[in-house]
Amino acid sequence: MSRLRYLLLVACLFADKPAIAEPTPTVIVDIAGIGASRLAELKRETGVRWSAEFGQELLLGIEPGALRDWQARPGVRPAAPEELWVRGHVCAHQTQQPALSRVGGFELLRMPPGTLRHAALAGVAGHPLPADGVVSRELRNEATQKAVLGASPQVQALVNGIDAERWFQTMSLLAGYNRNSFSPALGPSRDWILSAFEGAGLDPSVFEYILSGGTGCTPAPPAVTIGNPIGVKAGVETPGEWVVVGAHYDSRNSVRCDGTANPQPGANDNASGCAGVIELARAFATVETRRSILFMCFSGEEQGLWGSRRYVESLQASGDIGRVVHMLNLDMIGFDAGGTLDAQIVTSNAQAAWAAQYAAAAGTYAPELNIINSTSVAGNSDYWYFLQAGVPAVFTWENGVAGYVHYHQSTDVPANMTRARELAGGILKMDVAVLADVAGLVALFRDGFE
Ligand SMILES: [Zn+2]
Repeated sequence: MSRLRYLLLVACLFADKPAIAEPTPTVIVDIAGIGASRLAELKRETGVRWSAEFGQELLLGIEPGALRDWQARPGVRPAAPEELWVRGHVCAHQTQQPALSRVGGFELLRMPPGTLRHAALAGVAGHPLPADGVVSRELRNEATQKAVLGASPQVQALVNGIDAERWFQTMSLLAGYNRNSFSPALGPSRDWILSAFEGAGLDPSVFEYILSGGTGCTPAPPAVTIGNPIGVKAGVETPGEWVVVGAHYDSRNSVRCDGTANPQPGANDNASGCAGVIELARAFATVETRRSILFMCFSGEEQGLWGSRRYVESLQASGDIGRVVHMLNLDMIGFDAGGTLDAQIVTSNAQAAWAAQYAAAAGTYAPELNIINSTSVAGNSDYWYFLQAGVPAVFTWENGVAGYVHYHQSTDVPANMTRARELAGGILKMDVAVLADVAGLVALFRDGFE
């Protein structure tokens, strides 16, 4: 994840607008997995003025007379809406201010109202609580349950081809390289990824660009020419229609542009995602697809999404951006913060149907996952410029990076990830099922059809 970019756009259904201007006693209620009807009941209870969902927690604005009763309930604690501030997890590592609540990439903080009013001018990262009150939404609380599809034998066979242990080995191997964008070891890691793509039967190439300026580093490091390794699986019917599967392979430690000193294994961030791209490519090696799939790992992400940005710009310049029917991004898929295999599906509100398709695939092929469906879009990973270019792009990842103390540290190693195989395995099974649908399976295990 990059610290450079932050943007929050939220839109979801909501009953009432929080009364920001008028102080209202507020409580936070734990709603993890309580279901749609109980959630609706809570919002309608006597004394509730407004509500705001925050993933596994519900914020309730309470009539002053009812506050004492609410505070006496188990699992309820106080908060104040006019002091609430939502910020990306990337900021959580910059200050010690404790969060009131946390979901996935977002934290809810209490801030003095005066600070809130001037936050934008003061350069304080974050955003007031969205007017619709929804920062992210847990699928188990949706009135419409996640669809469970009838499993397709062809897709199920592809899902079975996801090998979480093989993914873990790939991830561990990548974590052995110092993959900072300014590191001399970035090139060898790029070449290793290319050879992995070749091994999966893909046509390998490198998209090269110059990383100079805009790195967020002082003094600015000298410009470097670096690349994104790409492996193409040509579609057999409409090869000019592309599905892009990407994840950044560069890493960093506490120093963003440190090319040589200190180890920067970036196991979770983001050897896990790049190894996921390779694992998906290997799973698809046994089948033909109607559309082409472009598997790629980006560089320069930690300096500001430069690898994906330059690539999208090149597609816009050549006109090929119109070929991209879908983009899937993987970034940090191996840390199970809560012990419940939470996984986030993130896209813009306009692409909510895509999020629903991923959720349905999880319900069918990876039911062990607890899906957090978020239309709160943080421009902090490589799907961002695809989304900005009008491509339906979805970001699948873990939920709880704010609790990953090894984030951007030299201790981001495989041993410090939690239930990595289960979480990444589940996310990749969900992803491969959607990709099978989008790319279009022609025949599975070709030998079996001959
Ligand atoms: Zn990352």
